[in-house]
Amino acid sequence: MNFLEERIVRDGVVKEGNVLKVDSFLNHQMDIQLLDQMGAEFRRRFDGKPINKILTIEASGIGIACIAAQHFHVPVVFAKKSQSINLDGEMYVAEVESFTHKCINHVIVGKKFLAPEDHVLIIDDFLANGCALQGLIQIVQSAGAVVEGIGIAIEKGFQPGGRIIRNLGFQLESLAIVDGMDASTGHIDFRPQSGEDQRKSDKTAEHVFKPEECVCRSSTLD
Ligand code: 5GP
Repeated sequence: MNFLEERIVRDGVVKEGNVLKVDSFLNHQMDIQLLDQMGAEFRRRFDGKPINKILTIEASGIGIACIAAQHFHVPVVFAKKSQSINLDGEMYVAEVESFTHKCINHVIVGKKFLAPEDHVLIIDDFLANGCALQGLIQIVQSAGAVVEGIGIAIEKGFQPGGRIIRNLGFQLESLAIVDGMDASTGHIDFRPQSGEDQRKSDKTAEHVFKPEECVCRSSTLD
């Protein structure tokens, strides 16, 4: 087990409904030393990529992205979530369904913070159905910028997001991939951690995308 998997086993709580709570160290109270180790690991996994910006989404991605950015020496942009759009100025907007809150949010980034010359690393805390990520990818692509890679703290491998994103051809690096969890026993199964193994498992099942799994549409607002 790697450092993050060990921490999930120690302090994570498996809830009914396929929800893993990691709020004592990752996305409510934050263990900054752990976040720093995660940042170093993202840096190692994306070594050689010409990343000049990190993009994440509020709120839980921000802390992870900021600590990671210290290893890349690049700025962080976070997409804002809003159920109504009343921000000023020019912005990119994608519609994203929230896994945890079961509602539709607009995900918004000001046009002045993403440009065609940007090479972007997307970072987030969880990957489940992939809706949040697809919204962020669409925003980067609307800006004409390049997605150099995607770094996720915890991927729930039994949900389709990871397969969808890897099948789209992106370098997706998840520091821990949970392949199964049981709320009654608290048991968590992790997928083996080399990149090779992650990709092998992804090819075992071709995912057929069902529109009801998530809602991700993008547009631009002037
Ligand atoms: P997706 O868009 O991939 O379906 O879900 C990703 C988002 O939902 C993440 O940004 C994360 O905030 C939230 N999320 C999904 N699954 C979980 C979970 O098991 N636990 C927690 N704490 N958040 C989750």
